[in-house]
Amino acid sequence: MQEKIYDVIIIGAGPAGLSAAIYTGRARLDTLIIEKEKEGGQIVITAEIDNYPGSLRNESGPSLVARMVAQAERHGAKKVFDTIVEVDLKGDIKRLKGKKGEYAAHSVIIAAGAHPRPIGCTGEKDFIGKGISYCATCDAAFFEDMDIYVVGGGDTAVEEALYLTKFGRQVTLIHRRDQLRAIKSIQDRAFANDKLKFLWDTVVTEVRGDGIIESMTVKNVKTGEETVIDADEEDGTFGVFGFVGFIPETEIFKDQLNLRNGYIVTDDNMHTEIQGVFAAGDIREKSLRQVITAAADGAIAAMEANAYIEGYCLVNLG
Ligand code: NAP
Repeated sequence: MQEKIYDVIIIGAGPAGLSAAIYTGRARLDTLIIEKEKEGGQIVITAEIDNYPGSLRNESGPSLVARMVAQAERHGAKKVFDTIVEVDLKGDIKRLKGKKGEYAAHSVIIAAGAHPRPIGCTGEKDFIGKGISYCATCDAAFFEDMDIYVVGGGDTAVEEALYLTKFGRQVTLIHRRDQLRAIKSIQDRAFANDKLKFLWDTVVTEVRGDGIIESMTVKNVKTGEETVIDADEEDGTFGVFGFVGFIPETEIFKDQLNLRNGYIVTDDNMHTEIQGVFAAGDIREKSLRQVITAAADGAIAAMEANAYIEGYCLVNLG
């Protein structure tokens, strides 16, 4: 059978990949999106999207992404669920090897995003799904009327902590410094919320329990003092939600593309140093990682891929 060669393969179906697919679809490029698990990327684990233009009041990540997926499909993008494990991007035909199949295309848009960074405490791995979580929308309900701890001090940690106050008896945000990194407007909401408490200059060093988390040790980084926090006797457990940043999904690209701090380096038009290979969204080195910048990256990458395939250049190189 003759090998199928797509015009464009998009790796990742988050806001960057889906936006790219909408644009390549509209440009009538034969497009395949390859997604590892579930469309949406990080926004499917985001409780509320407040700052994407046009998002509905109380818009959740999953509801926004569902509309993006429908829009990409409407424009003709095909989709497979597979995990890409190996890539050969150098030639005119780009080849991708997945766990389920092999794929080929004239151009590739890498929009594989990033995954949550672990908190980094002893016992963390053993208690994922048994008290440790990186997704408030997924797991908040398990801790209804219980104590909840959130680790981190950025926009994600504070916003998700606010969301968790709707579920927990009390939510305590544990931050390694005495100032939040989150933007002021989010901080204001946090400081005005009675159910949200703060444990400053503190890190979680260990979680433990018999099957589920029953206790943890936290350490004050200034004084070195360690404190053991036990679960309420009646509850028997508590939730620890980690939001300490993200790690880009660049492992399979590191031998072929230029990375900086683990992120793919592109120019302003999403070009990597390999012709026909573009990167978009949170996987790319940039200053602002938001749904809107991911979507914008995806659109630019798509139009550049179109220009590459059609054999012209969008940018006036002067
Ligand atoms: P982030 O801005 O990188 O913040 C990570 C937080 O985790 C920081 O407070 C950091 O502490 C802390 N941290 C890092 N490593 C740690 C460790 N090993 N132990 C304990 N704490 C640790 O990550 P983010 O909050 O996920 O945000 C990522 C990007 O998405 C940002 O650009 C953010 O603006 C954006 N975002 C925007 C919105 C919004 O606009 N509504 C919502 C969510 C995310 P330090 O402060 O001490 O470094």
